[in-house]
Amino acid sequence: MSTRDDAAHGSTWHGATQVVRAGLPPKAAGTPYLPGPVFAAPYHAPGDPSLTPYTYGRFHNPSWTHYEAALSELEGGPCLLFPSGMAATTAVLATMVPPGSTLVMPQESYYTTRVIASQQFDGAWFAAQGINVVMAPTAGGGLLRALEEHATRGVSLLWLETPTNPGLDVCDIAALAAKAHDIGALVAVDNTTATPLLQQPLALGADLCVVSDTKAMTGHADLVLGHVAVRDPKHADTLRLWRTRTGVIPGPMEAWLAHRSLGTLHVRLTQQCRSAMAVAEFLAGCDQVRHVRYPGLPTDASYAIASKQMAAYGCVVSFELESAKAVERFFAQSQLVYEATSFGGLHTSAERRARWGGDVVSEGFVRMSVGLEDVHDLLADLAAALA
Ligand SMILES: *Cc1c(COP(=O)(O)O)cnc(C)c1O
Repeated sequence: MSTRDDAAHGSTWHGATQVVRAGLPPKAAGTPYLPGPVFAAPYHAPGDPSLTPYTYGRFHNPSWTHYEAALSELEGGPCLLFPSGMAATTAVLATMVPPGSTLVMPQESYYTTRVIASQQFDGAWFAAQGINVVMAPTAGGGLLRALEEHATRGVSLLWLETPTNPGLDVCDIAALAAKAHDIGALVAVDNTTATPLLQQPLALGADLCVVSDTKAMTGHADLVLGHVAVRDPKHADTLRLWRTRTGVIPGPMEAWLAHRSLGTLHVRLTQQCRSAMAVAEFLAGCDQVRHVRYPGLPTDASYAIASKQMAAYGCVVSFELESAKAVERFFAQSQLVYEATSFGGLHTSAERRARWGGDVVSEGFVRMSVGLEDVHDLLADLAAALA
């Protein structure tokens, strides 16, 4: 993985340096590099509360402040932390889509995001406010056509997810953002599969960037967390009010653990992307395996756009075996692949997506997340499990 372009953020540091140092407080003798988690509900706060940096645990927390500062350096805009990727997503949908307007989103975006928009909001909250939810395919220019078709319907927000999870379709963020801005819409990108190291939605023209830090951002399979990065500070104010008022707040322990994990993001992703490419190439050459998807394969439908807007192609590879049974046999034979949902972590894992329902995938569709095991061991294990 080459380094990301830092010039846009006025930093001369490369990605690897940035993640190691991001958000750390100034050097002070006798203090740790990263102060430990701060557990507090009320703080000592005499007199005028505006003169006290921290007053009450639902409003702010020093452990959030440090990690949000780190994320802001990586994302190129102010950041707000949320207790999960879905809490971050919901905060954006609830505050950026006014009554009577239209929300355009990918029909294959993250399952729960679609449920929020189509059942939670569209079915009750959104419908009551006259909000129109339009879903269109990510691949093949579907979102651009949806924007054009609904240009006069008051589109308030274009939601993107690229690469999509689990199908790994990719769309052109810069082109879609230009079109959306032309018709007065904001653009939000779910950047979970890429992370800010591989793809910079704000620099590509998006107004908001949503990430589940549960996945590759933190990578150790031990916490649930999310964040939103924004270009315009007034959107940060709106989201902060939402968080403070609804009380949808992250824990200080999670914020601290995430910050600690961030320092290895670059080495983790560099290795995971390299191994994922090897795994994708291996799978593409296996007779039992069909429809391998990896944006880094030159034959993949996502390759051209991914190459234009991503620094590397990520750690997720998807493919199909002939049946659910074949996938079960594969898991039973593999010693290294954990059968688990989620992705981006240091342990290689995979799952048969159709076991959940909700995604339009075949019974034999597998999403695999390539971890940090030695790639030779991994390839040998896959070969044995597929044999
Ligand atoms: C996991 C995921 C989410 C939701 O994140 P949580 O932290 O589980 O709430 C949203 N979008 C994508 C693309 C995801 O993979």
